[in-house]
Amino acid sequence: MKSYVYAALLLLGLAQAQTVAYAPLPKVQPLGAVQPVAPGFQQAPALPQIALSPAVPQLRRLEYASNGFIEAAHALLLLPRASAGPQGTLFLAQQVVARAFAARPSLAVVDVSIYRAEDYAGFGGPLPLFTASVPKERLGEFEKLTPANLPTYDHLWVNPSTPHPPSLPPTGSTPASQLELLAFDGDPEELAAQQQEQTLQSESGPASGLVYHGNPQQPLAALTFDDAPHPLYAPLLLDVLRRSGAKATFFVVGRNAEAYPYFVRDMVKDAHEIANHTYHHVRLVGLTPAQMQEELQRNNKLLRSITGETPVFFRPPGGRFSSEVLKAAKAAGLATAFWTDDPADFNNPGALTLETRLLQHLRPGGIVLLHDNAQQTIGLLSDFIQDASKVGIRLVTLETLTQPR
Ligand SMILES: [Zn+2]
Repeated sequence: MKSYVYAALLLLGLAQAQTVAYAPLPKVQPLGAVQPVAPGFQQAPALPQIALSPAVPQLRRLEYASNGFIEAAHALLLLPRASAGPQGTLFLAQQVVARAFAARPSLAVVDVSIYRAEDYAGFGGPLPLFTASVPKERLGEFEKLTPANLPTYDHLWVNPSTPHPPSLPPTGSTPASQLELLAFDGDPEELAAQQQEQTLQSESGPASGLVYHGNPQQPLAALTFDDAPHPLYAPLLLDVLRRSGAKATFFVVGRNAEAYPYFVRDMVKDAHEIANHTYHHVRLVGLTPAQMQEELQRNNKLLRSITGETPVFFRPPGGRFSSEVLKAAKAAGLATAFWTDDPADFNNPGALTLETRLLQHLRPGGIVLLHDNAQQTIGLLSDFIQDASKVGIRLVTLETLTQPR
């Protein structure tokens, strides 16, 4: 990291012995409040592409990224209906993965997602037909797969229903990684109660099924990632966390977990925590109680089937909530968790801005909100975890943060 940021950090560390002036908490706002666009907003830089030889006509894009240690690629393929049989799908995936490794030998892993061309609608749309993640050392094994022995490869998913029914949210879903704002929909009294709860928690830690802040007396902060899992980024993010030894809570979108269950299993294997971010990444405010239950329970059930464990925490997409949302979460057995620091990594403000914001907001009992698919976050995560440890703060899961001590 840049030396002057580090110098500022050291000063901050020294200052902590006296009085601590952390950046202000994101205050619970009434619904309709507008959060100013974070300074430094930029479109996500386009990812570099890999060209295959010979070319594969169904390949829409093959992009790659690095976490500073390893490189991963993701191939997106669109199949016309006529060629979407299981044999053809597998063969195509094998061809693209092998050619990607041949074209760029520095890749550590290649992920592939195959959609039906007719109903491809991006990452929030209908599920793919087939996905897989292939580390370089498993290429030989992947190439030998046949439709008869697919289940022997554990980083692969085949859509069980063909044609698969579109799974659409009850109202327009929130594009993942949109501006997060702690926005409460309710009367002024309820809003004031939420703001008071937030202030109380910043002084003494969480007390109920509602988490705004961990215990400020403990040298711990929670590291949380929203919207996971995403192909391309999941292997990079898990690799950085493995190297740094930090544990995180992943707020998983059911739709993403359905198509990439093996990444969710990898998270659990690495002792990270899985939490609920609704099935469709939908804003719950305005839905009926039954629709809210459906979004929460469907994701709970799915995550239980993948990991064997039921999530404990829930975070509302877009940060929009109301008393009804809190009630629905409670009825689904979930504690609602917010954050103390949202550095707006989805706005791609630049690595230095992001890192400065992270360090300014880092506090004992804090909850850091990041996104699993933000390239700049993945690039600086290793430095941030180290810098947090230099000021005496260990980054942990929400479960660890909220354990009574
Ligand atoms: Zn989200």
